[in-house]
Amino acid sequence: MELISMNCPNCSGNIKYKPGKTQMVCPYCDSVIKISMTIEDREFERNISKIANELPKYMASLKKWRIAFFITLPLALLSGVMLIGAIIGTIFAPSDASKNDTSSKSEAYSVVTEIK
Ligand SMILES: [Zn+2]
Repeated sequence: MELISMNCPNCSGNIKYKPGKTQMVCPYCDSVIKISMTIEDREFERNISKIANELPKYMASLKKWRIAFFITLPLALLSGVMLIGAIIGTIFAPSDASKNDTSSKSEAYSVVTEIK
């Protein structure tokens, strides 16, 4: 659990406050400091410390996901580009072939073969 730094109201000494505690003793002047908290405050503190405890686990899992993401992203992009290329190729390839003069070359070739 994380400690919160605060100052003693009597001597202004630095006190490390452990969340959840309602009473503590100043290590410098031995003053007893009572902390009045509402139920909502305690619930809030409990939730904050729960989040603080869960955060390292969350960050570790996030790191794993990030690594997985950077491995799969290029593969996904590559397959996407290939898919788009295949679609464009399917749509435009026949019309491109008729516009090209390769058809006339093949005609010329067929003429040559007929002569032979
Ligand atoms: Zn003090």
